[in-house]
Amino acid sequence: MSSRTAIHLLPDQLASQIAAGEVVERPASVVKELLENALDAGADRLDIHVEEGGIRRIAVHDNGHGIPKDELPLAVCRHATSKIVTAEDLHRIHTLGFRGEALASISAVSRFELASRTAEEATGWRIASDGATHWTEPAPVAIPVGTRIEVKDLFFNVPARRKFLKAPRTEFGHIDELVRRMALAWPSVQFTLQHNGKTVHQLRPVQDEAGQLRRLEMLLGKGFVEAALAVEFESGPLRLRGWMARPTFNRAQADMQYFYVNGRMVRDKLLVHAVRQAYADTLYHGRQPAYVLFLELPPEQVDVNVHPAKSEVRFAEARWVYDFVRRSLKDAIATPIESRPTTNDM
Ligand code: ADP
Ligand code: MG
Repeated sequence: MSSRTAIHLLPDQLASQIAAGEVVERPASVVKELLENALDAGADRLDIHVEEGGIRRIAVHDNGHGIPKDELPLAVCRHATSKIVTAEDLHRIHTLGFRGEALASISAVSRFELASRTAEEATGWRIASDGATHWTEPAPVAIPVGTRIEVKDLFFNVPARRKFLKAPRTEFGHIDELVRRMALAWPSVQFTLQHNGKTVHQLRPVQDEAGQLRRLEMLLGKGFVEAALAVEFESGPLRLRGWMARPTFNRAQADMQYFYVNGRMVRDKLLVHAVRQAYADTLYHGRQPAYVLFLELPPEQVDVNVHPAKSEVRFAEARWVYDFVRRSLKDAIATPIESRPTTNDM
C-alpha cells in the first residue's frame, strides 16, 4: 500500500476547481449561469459571443443594473451573493441564481474578465484573473451601464476536464439549445448569439401574443406554431400557460419539450410524465409530444436547491401539481378551440 498523506485542507484554488466541476460541465453551463445572472440583474438586452464552441471564448454583455466597483472582488468569491440573506429566503427564491457559486467556479477554471458599471458610476470597472489565483485591482473601463463577462480557454488549468470537451460543433449545439430555451421564456428580452463572428440568432424583444408566436416560429419552426394550441389554466395558486402542439404534430424524439417552473427551465420526470399522460393515446406508441409550458406556483411550494445546476426541482405537493398539469392539458386536447374556456376550476 502507498504511504498515507496526512489529512490537510485543500488549497482554496484546488477546492474551487473541484467545486467548479458541479456547476461548470461544459461551455453551455457557463453561458447558462451568465445569462441567469444578467436576467436576475434586470437586463433586457443580451449579447452572446462565442468562439470555437465556447471552448476558446465566451463573452456575454448585458444592460442590467451592474455591480458597483467595491463589490466586484466579492462577486467572484464563493458563497457571495446579493440574492439571499437568510435560510428562510431559500423557501422563497424568486431569482434564477442564489448559490453564489457561478462566478467563483467559472473563474477558477478559465481566463476570466469581469467588467461592470452601475447607473451611479461615471465609468465601468474591470477585474481579471487566470484561474482565480490572483486578481487584478479594479481598473476603469469605458462601457455602458451593465455587465460584460469574458471567459477564455475554459478548463485551461484542469486538463482532466478539458479532455472531456467535445468538438466545437457539438459544444456549440449545446449553447444554441440553451439560448433557445432562455429566449422562449423571456420574450421581452432581446437576444443576440454569434458564433465565430457569424450571427446565429437575432431575436428582437416582443410585447404581444403575435410577437410571441413569431419568436416561437423562429425557434421551433412553422410546423410547431401551426399546430400549437395556446393554453392557460388556473387553479388556486397554480397557473399553467403556454403552447402545446396538437397530437398531429409529434416528434420521434423528446427534442421539443420545454417546461419551465417559475421561469426556470427544468427537466422533471414528474412533469414530463404528466404531459405525456395528457396526450395519452392521442399519440402513436413511441411518438413524442411538443410543447412550451410555463408553470407558476408559490415559491415555497417548490425546492429549486436540489442540484448545483438548478435544473431539478422538488414539489412540496407533487401529486397536486401532477394532477393539475395532466388534467388541464387533457382538457385542452379534448376540447374544440371555440368552446375552450381560458380557466378551469378544479
Ligand atoms: P448568484 O447568482 O448565485 O448570486 P453568482 O456567482 O452567479 O452567484 O454571482 C454573484 C453575484 O454577482 C450575484 O449575486 C450578483 O450580485 C452579481 N452579479 C453577477 N453577474 C451579474 C450581472 N450580470 N449583473 C449584475 N450583477 C451580477
Ligand atoms: Mg448566478
